Formats: sequence, structure tokens, C-alpha cells
Amino acid sequence: MVKRIYQEYLEGGSLTQIARGLETDGILTAAGKAKWRPETLRKILMNDKYIGDALLQKTYTMDFLNKKRVQNNGIVPQYYVENSHEPIIPRDLYMQVQEEMVRRANLHSREKRKKRVYSSKYALSSIVYCPKCGEFYRRIAWNNRGKHSTVWRCCTRVEHGQKACDAPTIHESDLQETVVKAINLVLGSRDTIMESQQKNIKTVILQGDETSVEGINAKLKELQKKLLRLANSKKDYGSVAEEIDSMRDLKQKALSDSVER
Ligand SMILES: [Zn+2]
Repeated sequence: MVKRIYQEYLEGGSLTQIARGLETDGILTAAGKAKWRPETLRKILMNDKYIGDALLQKTYTMDFLNKKRVQNNGIVPQYYVENSHEPIIPRDLYMQVQEEMVRRANLHSREKRKKRVYSSKYALSSIVYCPKCGEFYRRIAWNNRGKHSTVWRCCTRVEHGQKACDAPTIHESDLQETVVKAINLVLGSRDTIMESQQKNIKTVILQGDETSVEGINAKLKELQKKLLRLANSKKDYGSVAEEIDSMRDLKQKALSDSVER
């Protein structure tokens, strides 16, 4: 069911369309409800747990060399065992969906007849978020009886109406003015900004093995072996588990960073 949602989204289905489809087919939500809300679907589409990393597992591979499988009898929190089974959502599919979300957030909705417009076209796209529902704000060209104006609106509100989100419409000129003010404010303390900017640029450029997703995965794998080893010999694995936790956070950050980039 989760995979179906991912696929239908990539095939171009809107959250509302996918919801109607699930309802028509009588598929219930995890909470056992017949009604699917678009927000529920969005949560599913953004939940990295469906990649398979944190799914409950009955068995795990104890030894990667001789592939001996051992029952997970609860000694090891199942949460920490990654990649030892077929994930529900392949990583590629998950990442494609994340990119598709950003792309859709930046569609120039009034110009759908023309080629779709991507984020890099507007400096503010995928930066402006709705304070009420967390969705992206979208740039919209308004033509009100021949009077043209450009505004930014919450995607939830555009797609599902004021009941779904009542975040205000913002005129582009107001938005730009605010952004310029904010930039000037930051540039007022030039030394600090330069220093932290240099650091940021360095981080982006030097995306070495330490921070890349592959690097993190390799490290996670190593830590999990260690954790299983400790747990199997009934030793304390608390600090390793903690390290795995922080690596998972780092990985999540690396994944979202790469989408942003
Ligand atoms: Zn909103």
C-alpha cells in the first residue's frame, strides 16, 4: 500500500487524487479509518522509515561473513538493524519522491500550459515555507480583470482551499522587500557572516566521505556489526546504540541536504 502511494505520486497523482483512489478501493489507513487525508499521505511520502531502515525484523544477519541468521529475540532493539531485509520502499524511489515534492512545490501553476518551471528560476522558491502547515509557498501570477500581480501562496491553500490552510497570500514585492531587509540586517555584521558563509561553502564543496550518505551508510553498517557483536556476547551496547542514533540523524540531514542542493 505504501509503495502504491509512492508510485502513484511519481506518476503525477496529486495527494487528493491518491486519497480518493485509496478510498474507492476500500483501503484503510494505519489507524483503521476509511477517509484518507492529504496530510496523512504527505507524511507517508516523507517518512524515511519506509525505506526499510527501521522496520521491525524477525531475524537479522549476525555475521556478515558466514551469513548465519539469528533470531532477534529482543536483545538488540530492532530499530538499529538496517538493510537486513528487503525494504518496502527502495531508496531510489524514496529520493525520487522527495525531489518530486520540491519540484511540484515550484510549479508555476498559472503557466502549466507552457513548460514547467523549476526552482532555480526563482530565488525564493523552496525557501519560503508556510508558517501554519509547513508546505512550500508557491509563486503565482495573478490576473485579476486585466490587472497583473505576482503573489506567493501556500500550496495547501492553493490545492485544497482555505479550510485546509488559511495562511495569507503575500505580494511578491512585500516578500522581496522583507528578504532584502533580512539580508541587510545580516550583512550589518559582515565579519560573522563571512566566517559562517565560508564554513558553509567549505562544507558543501568538501562533501567528503565523512558526510556523504554512502559514507554514513558504511559507518552505520560497521556500528551495527559492533552492536550485534556486543549484544550477542551480552555486553553493554548503549554507547554504540547512541552513536547509531546520531549517525541516523546525520544521514537524514545529508539526505535532505542533497535534495536541497
Ligand atoms: Zn499552509
